[in-house]
Amino acid sequence: MNWYQYNLENLARKLDVNMDLGLSSKQAEERLKKLGYNELEEGKSVSLLLLFFRQFQDFMVIVLLAATLISGLLGEYVDAIAIMAIVFLNAVLGFFQEQKAEKSLAKLKELSAPQAEVLRSGIWEKVHSRELVVGDIVKVTSGDRVSADLRLLTVSGLEVEESSLTGESLPVLKQTKELKEGNVELGDQVNMVFSGTLVTRGSGVGVVVGTGMKTAMGQIASLLVQTSRMPTPLERKLAELGKILIVTALLLTAFVVIAGVYRGHPLYEMFLAGVSLAVAAIPEGLPAIVTVALSLGVQRMIKKKAIVRKLSAVETLGCASVICSDKTGTMTENQMTVKQVSTIDEHFYVTGEGYDPYGAFFDGRNQEVKLGDIPAISRMLLYGSLCNHARVVNKEDRYVVDGDPTEGALRVAGWKAGVTEESLAEWEITYEIPFDSDRKRMSVVVEHRSGERLIIVKGAPDVLLPRSTSVYSSEGQRPLMQKDAQVVESKIGNMADQALRTIAICYKPLKKGQSYNDFELEKDLTFIGVTGIIDPPRKEVKRAIEECHQAGIKTVMITGDHAKTARAIARDLELMPENGQVVEGSKLSAMNDDQLEAIIDETYVFARVTPQHKLRIVQAFQKQGHVVAMTGDGVNDAPAIKASDIGISMGQSGTDVAKEASSLVLLDDNFATIRSAIQEGRNIYENIRKFIRYLLASNVGEILVMLFAMLLALPLPLVPVQILWVNLVTDGLPAMALGLDRSEGDVMKRSPRSPKEGIFARGLGFKIISRGFMIGIVTLIAFIMAYQGDPERLLYAQTIAFSTLVVAQLIHVFDCRSERSVFARNPFSNLYLIGAVLSSLLLMLVVIYYDPLHPIFHTMDVPLRDWIFITGLGAVPTFLWGFSKK
Ligand code: ATP
Repeated sequence: MNWYQYNLENLARKLDVNMDLGLSSKQAEERLKKLGYNELEEGKSVSLLLLFFRQFQDFMVIVLLAATLISGLLGEYVDAIAIMAIVFLNAVLGFFQEQKAEKSLAKLKELSAPQAEVLRSGIWEKVHSRELVVGDIVKVTSGDRVSADLRLLTVSGLEVEESSLTGESLPVLKQTKELKEGNVELGDQVNMVFSGTLVTRGSGVGVVVGTGMKTAMGQIASLLVQTSRMPTPLERKLAELGKILIVTALLLTAFVVIAGVYRGHPLYEMFLAGVSLAVAAIPEGLPAIVTVALSLGVQRMIKKKAIVRKLSAVETLGCASVICSDKTGTMTENQMTVKQVSTIDEHFYVTGEGYDPYGAFFDGRNQEVKLGDIPAISRMLLYGSLCNHARVVNKEDRYVVDGDPTEGALRVAGWKAGVTEESLAEWEITYEIPFDSDRKRMSVVVEHRSGERLIIVKGAPDVLLPRSTSVYSSEGQRPLMQKDAQVVESKIGNMADQALRTIAICYKPLKKGQSYNDFELEKDLTFIGVTGIIDPPRKEVKRAIEECHQAGIKTVMITGDHAKTARAIARDLELMPENGQVVEGSKLSAMNDDQLEAIIDETYVFARVTPQHKLRIVQAFQKQGHVVAMTGDGVNDAPAIKASDIGISMGQSGTDVAKEASSLVLLDDNFATIRSAIQEGRNIYENIRKFIRYLLASNVGEILVMLFAMLLALPLPLVPVQILWVNLVTDGLPAMALGLDRSEGDVMKRSPRSPKEGIFARGLGFKIISRGFMIGIVTLIAFIMAYQGDPERLLYAQTIAFSTLVVAQLIHVFDCRSERSVFARNPFSNLYLIGAVLSSLLLMLVVIYYDPLHPIFHTMDVPLRDWIFITGLGAVPTFLWGFSKK
């Protein structure tokens, strides 16, 4: 028998689960042990050993090893072993860098792992989807990616898009009744939902019948293409740059070799020097350091509650020039409290804070009123509690909402008006048309024990008023006149001006036994009244908007709420300048794309919009040359999130679909977190520029000192092991430490970077060449002065050149921390860098002062007073420009 043929009783027996309580955690644990995690088997990951050997793949490293082998065969054992050891150390360093990158990427993946809502021992809780087991009772709602195969137990307008399994892109309406036939195609198994498919509307509860490889998706898992991580644009750009650098370095090295041979150096000696120089000059560590910098930055973002799903977003964040943000929950607290209630002829104020159930109703003269005498308000709040799925619970002495905060607020207002759980239990919901932001309303058909049957509709007042034909006043029900509509509209306007969110409540009695379609149900309603709900702006948002403004980033509010409510909140947040415009969804629909583009730069608030409008807004901003960040949480927001340059979803209230479409997830749903992420994004990019500048300037210096020496017919200023040691000692750690640098104070006071900007823009190319040139020159000067044309002094001169080169680079690293000047920053504000520089210095001193290493590194003890000379010369490349802006 197939799962879809079971009736619910047999199902419970077969799966050994109590359908009302779910599995106990002990049962779940046992089943997890027996059946394994609910996940598809992935391809084997690369072994550590392989990862290590990959470090030797680089072409030049292979050439170097071959050259070393030759020199070993020729009897130069010491040199050969030293070079091998350095190459090995380099590989170890590269290996750890890559390991770190891999690990942090894996951690990211874990953080954005999907969750499922499951009933365990009678309590609904969220668990990682991989921990689901057969027999678990699971809830799915609109926007979820289903995480196991479920046989449905209850549904409420549940529609599921199953194209990943069946190829059919139209959503399928689900039901719960068992099917009779035994050979039903997946697409027709309407009482089942399958792992990996997408809930597009409504909600449902089902029992897990298959997990992991035992799901319908698992059976075709082998056909699914494994997606590997795509390199980010910057990584790609750097890979291209890397190729150019390799060619340049090779050409220059070849030139050095030719010049050396021409000047009479032995070919073999020049060959080994050339290959070592090429290995040192090719920044082979660059890609790994970039990945490390990106992923470490990403970890810093996690601490600030932003999770990056696509590394490329880190780069784009720094270019963002417009943030389009939802209002509710992102700019506001999503802490809703009903503050006013209004019918056609009454208006009351409600006291109490948050979701605390304590509060009373007062009239305009501040007199407390007993609602028992005012049937319209009592009825409105009873219906508001019936057309409602939220639960307000006391957790650790605080009342919190489980469900939609707007509905939570209505429940609390109901409590304050005396609506009890017992009175609600007398009603049963028999049908529902769920809320979505397109419809801006939700309806339930309810039946009372006495047989009374009604439809209750709650939603945006301007959506419900046109659907109403009568009104419920203090005298009872009467036809809705033109002037009644005007009264209601002015009341809504008044509440909205006070930044209140308005929800109207309507109803209509239904005949027993008669069936209606959705359209008939939601027309000819009786309008009872409106509630005004406060949702205060988040405290930190005003400042974040101001800081974005200073950073040249425009903030735009996009909301399904009333234009006046949106304007009032925008005013509180100081989001709009004097001439800023509010555009409503209906007006936007009437505009063509050109008209929209013409007004978009002056528009700061889009109100009463639907998710479809969001896509047009993104595209209009992009047409104006903006880089757009767009937030969203619902299923229908996904296209706009995808189309934007930085799609942002909400960690708490967001659906799986929105999260999957996004490149950044806000763990706390907070606008201020976007600001922090942008700051971090800008900083990461700047840090990458810092170490690129450092590494390349160092390499330019290394090549030039050799080149100039050959041109001047001098001996080799550095021997191969020294070149390799400089490369190892100065490149790795200080460059990494630059990647960890904190942002410069003014990073949020600059305009966004242009996405077209090359890596060497803003004078970086000049800085690299000029500093590199000077590093080469001072090293050469040090060499010449120490050498004095005396071959006896060669060993000493080479040691001095080696020291000067290292010291010049290690001083220059501090210059790289700021694009302004070496004096712009306190050198001790990056302790990693201090640590890295000290260890590099130590590694240099070891080969100079530790006698046993002398024959290996061709070094000798240097008198202490020489260090004044070395440091003085080494400081020149940095301080020559210290006072200029170039
Ligand atoms: P955002 O600012 O993030 O777009 P929003 O809540 O203002 O969020 P929607 O959720 O699309 O926008 O809501 C639009 C309107 O629908 C609200 O102004 C309110 O009148 C109504 N509404 C909101 N939630 C519900 C609900 N649960 N049931 C019925 N109507 C609702």
